[in-house]
Amino acid sequence: MTICDQDYSANIIERRWLSKKTFEIILNRPASFTFKPGQRISLKYKKMERDYSLASSPDESHLKLCIRHVKKGVLSQELGDTQIGTRISFAGPHGYFTYKNPQRPTVFIATGTGIAPFRSMVRSGTSPDFLLHGVETSEDLYYSEEFQSVAESYIPCLSQSKNSQTYFRGRVTDYLQMHLPPENYDFYLCGRLEMIRDATLLVDELFEGSNIYTETFY
Ligand SMILES: Cc1cc2nc3c(=O)[nH]c(=O)nc-3n(C[C@H](O)[C@H](O)[C@H](O)COP(=O)(O)OP(=O)(O)OC[C@H]3O[C@@H](n4cnc5c(N)ncnc54)[C@H](O)[C@@H]3O)c2cc1C
Repeated sequence: MTICDQDYSANIIERRWLSKKTFEIILNRPASFTFKPGQRISLKYKKMERDYSLASSPDESHLKLCIRHVKKGVLSQELGDTQIGTRISFAGPHGYFTYKNPQRPTVFIATGTGIAPFRSMVRSGTSPDFLLHGVETSEDLYYSEEFQSVAESYIPCLSQSKNSQTYFRGRVTDYLQMHLPPENYDFYLCGRLEMIRDATLLVDELFEGSNIYTETFY
């Protein structure tokens, strides 16, 4: 894959809250900007720079980011308040977290906004055998309708919802340990470091010989 690192600027054309803790930012797409599903951009605003995965597909006319409103997080708080129409710059596309030619059944595992690159892949026609999304409560199952209709086995995992009758109660790693049939898989993991670390240990122990591709949101 070629690395294409160029600076672009774009306007924020919409902000949409998906839950109390998460929002989407929609940017107009510079005509010359292309990317592969799963890649990210480096957003620059007020002398800050942070990475965000693209949640839209390369076929769409806009760019979509799915952002967690981090408590005391400087840029995510700014982006949650910034006026529509604000001009920001970004560099990219960056990264290699793209869908490889499948060798075995595919398992996508995300926590929180780690679902963003998978949304881009699924909207671009990729259909994983399993798609696990770990969140605290069902309020954070953004994009669930899209995934239900496309991903063969979409499995929300709720870590803080003791009473859910509909969804799996527990972390994505609990689901892996208890329910994923033993097999060799291509695992794609995206989210916070703790999940990536715990899931990698489990895959090594329970699904020996599987491939693991990761994107860590530091
Ligand atoms: C490759 C890559 C892709 C990424 N893609 C996305 C994405 O698509 N969506 C997205 O929301 N984020 C993504 N991130 C994280 C993002 O780059 C920022 O780190 C995040 O938005 C916090 O920035 P901030 O300026 O608000 O917080 P900062 O001011 O940088 O951090 C403030 C404090 O919050 C903690 N913190 C940072 N992030 C989190 C978090 N998620 N949960 C809890 N505490 C946190 C920090 O450790 C720090 O203590 C990605 C990161 C990487 C490396």
